[in-house]
Amino acid sequence: MEAKIIDGFQIAADLRKSVAKDVEELKAKDIQPTLAVILVGSDPASQSYVKGKTKALHEVGMNDRTFRLDESTSQEELIKLIKELNEDKLVNGILVQLPLPKQIDPDAVIAAISPEKDVDGFHPVNVGELLLGHETFIPCTPHGVIHLLKIAGVETKGAKAVIVGRSNIVGKPLSVLMMNRDVNATVTVCHSGTKDLAAVTKEADILVAAMGKPQFIKADMIKPGAVVIDVGVNRIEDSSKKSGFRLVGDVDFEPAKQVASAITPVPRGVGPMTIAMLVFNTLEAARRQNGIK
Ligand code: NDP
Repeated sequence: MEAKIIDGFQIAADLRKSVAKDVEELKAKDIQPTLAVILVGSDPASQSYVKGKTKALHEVGMNDRTFRLDESTSQEELIKLIKELNEDKLVNGILVQLPLPKQIDPDAVIAAISPEKDVDGFHPVNVGELLLGHETFIPCTPHGVIHLLKIAGVETKGAKAVIVGRSNIVGKPLSVLMMNRDVNATVTVCHSGTKDLAAVTKEADILVAAMGKPQFIKADMIKPGAVVIDVGVNRIEDSSKKSGFRLVGDVDFEPAKQVASAITPVPRGVGPMTIAMLVFNTLEAARRQNGIK
């Protein structure tokens, strides 16, 4: 039987709708949730992500303050802007679109954002809070994956979860969330040093691919009946498209669909969830800064 397609596009739309309702309530209290979005340089993928994020902010009734800085911006200039935004009471969240040009150290930039406004959940203080299981801003992509599993009714308790990828923005925080008591999966994290990757992935009841390698996970690496979450977003050449490329995930989707019990597509899977979680975190920031539970 073909796998059920987990419709991240629809699940994200539902989440945005619920955020929009809560935004209305805040506006009735004269609170206007606002996110500052900073883009440095002109990387086309980053520009498209920023466009998607501002569109979602407007859709839920939030304000954006978008700063488009030149590719040659220095680290000092960027940090000066962040410090001004940290002090600005009309700004609830600050997002710096990654990657940054090479003259800028992303760790220094993330550390400059006030943890209370760090809606990406990347600040070391928030990473620590996540590890300790305290309330914090949960990074958007892993948070989106957990929400997808929940809404799709996937049984996570006692499940064997395998995450391929250990980045600070996806693999690592997702491993923490999946081992938390409310999810209660038994988690294995793979990386480029993993021996016999297929032997590990084939054990997974829930397999998450976050590698950045187009269509790397083949059907024979998936246990029959597993749930497959594809975080990867890769551009591959496609002369039939006007843009000359199309997006694929880290999973070889069509054959994998014949083996898995449920699977997220790319696009319309994890990607829209990441953006929906960003507006959710911005709402949280506005609430917390105004003492609203
Ligand atoms: P990174 O490049 O930071 O991390 C990739 C991870 O995959 C690394 O840990 C790397 O191992 C591991 N890896 C790479 N190749 C292999 C391999 N052959 N075998 C085992 N492990 C491997 O990527 P990100 O985490 O930032 O992103 C991953 C993917 O997710 C990308 O396609 C990205 O575009 C996408 N993404 C999608 C988002 C969304 O909203 N849908 C949001 C964020 C990312 P090692 O550590 O050893 O190098």
